[in-house]
Amino acid sequence: MNYKQALTHPIFKIISQSAKELHLDAYVIGGFVRDYILQRGSAKDIDIVAIGSGIELAQQVAKNLPNKPKVQVFKTYGTAMLRFEDIEIEFVGARKESYNEDSRNPIVENGSLEDDQNRRDFTINALALDLSEENFGEILDPFNGIQDLKDAIIRTPLNPDITYSDDPLRMMRAIRFATQLDFKIEEESLQAISKNKARIEIITNERIVVELNKILESNTPSIGFLLLEKTGLLDYILPELTALKGIDEIEGQRHKDNFYHTLEVVDNISKNTENLWLRWAALLHDIGKAPTKKFHKKLGWTFHGHEFKGSKMVYHLFKRLKMPLNDKMKFVQKMVMMSSRPIVLAEDMATDSAVRRLVFDAGDFVEDLMTLCEADITTKNPNKFKKYHNNFKIVREKIVEVEERDHVRNFQPPVSGEIIMETFNLKPCREIGIIKETIKEAILEGDIPNEYEAAFQLMLKEGEKLGLKKQ
Ligand code: ATP
Ligand code: MG
Repeated sequence: MNYKQALTHPIFKIISQSAKELHLDAYVIGGFVRDYILQRGSAKDIDIVAIGSGIELAQQVAKNLPNKPKVQVFKTYGTAMLRFEDIEIEFVGARKESYNEDSRNPIVENGSLEDDQNRRDFTINALALDLSEENFGEILDPFNGIQDLKDAIIRTPLNPDITYSDDPLRMMRAIRFATQLDFKIEEESLQAISKNKARIEIITNERIVVELNKILESNTPSIGFLLLEKTGLLDYILPELTALKGIDEIEGQRHKDNFYHTLEVVDNISKNTENLWLRWAALLHDIGKAPTKKFHKKLGWTFHGHEFKGSKMVYHLFKRLKMPLNDKMKFVQKMVMMSSRPIVLAEDMATDSAVRRLVFDAGDFVEDLMTLCEADITTKNPNKFKKYHNNFKIVREKIVEVEERDHVRNFQPPVSGEIIMETFNLKPCREIGIIKETIKEAILEGDIPNEYEAAFQLMLKEGEKLGLKKQ
């Protein structure tokens, strides 16, 4: 079959011409071909395999391009990369691979196109388009990848047990592609993943996180997390989540399964935000529930302080996975810490002061927090579902209203410490803090407006109570 129409971009003719000049064959392979057939929009990264030196081909292509782009050479991998317009093109020489037990980095020797297709992870990633002049656009599909694309199946070209054992990252990739494309992992593959799950330990955390992020960025992340759980990989990667599995029952009282609840929340939030870190927050919002779970004779099941515990666990989890310990992590921590705050507002009518306190504490993240809490509504009772959503709608309106009137987001005290010191002729002391706190509380409660004059008067009154004298 011919897929010339996939190769209308001028770059492909230039690669074809360059390969001809070097007397070698070249093919487009992998993700680009797959995504073209799936009509997933034109990919911005293109992989080229040369039967010969990929590096030399890249250099020839660069020479033939009008802007003579720089070629980045990765000698150890025998690959080269160049950019043209907004496309990243990676070149590699066809190769044959063999593996050692303790490393996912293979021993490499030169090979044929077929050897190179054999080393690819999945049949749908082994499709190649011929770039030679005579056969331009002909597809080479030795493993029926096109049929697997039609059937929505993830399958390995060779024995799955060996494929996953050789490079265990492929287990994560299989689950990631199943999630992104909404494909099924073929049964034998699934069993091979379960069997080889412990091999995930030779993969660096950075690589695992890349795949986790791609799962989280998909439309329905639960597909991936359910597969990670089913194959047993989740125990190795995110044991905090598997710890949420299960329902306990004592004296006829049950709590919900917080693992499946969490996955529902992640799917819900993915309909409303593209923000990866907010999706992480949804994934981790209940992790403090496993270590804080208790049964009380009167109260039933409680998870007292799980938000605080959870936010501490976020730090350890990020650290373990070698994720950056930066403001993104702090954002996730803050979301987890505050994740139950708006819920009381959903159950009852929210007072102005409760909303003002929420805005004060959440600052610029108040909308994200509302998005998280709305996603957290997974009740199957349609009346409650409607009521909670309606109440949150009212809370959102009140947030805007309170914000316009009181400006408590990124709160700056209307009367500064300097003014308090000047007024009562004080050196730094505890009384200043007390006065400031009283003013802040009065504003949040709505007793006084967030304005200088009202705050100044309250300061005088509070100073008098503390026995201070105005100068
Ligand atoms: P995407 O770019 O959307 O993540 P992709 O299929 O292009 O998908 P890349 O990581 O860019 O994935 O890899 C390009 C190609 O290299 C793949 O299509 C596949 O043929 C091959 N490949 C990548 N990683 C592996 C691996 N771990 N084992 C075997 N083949 C791989
Ligand atoms: Mg790619």
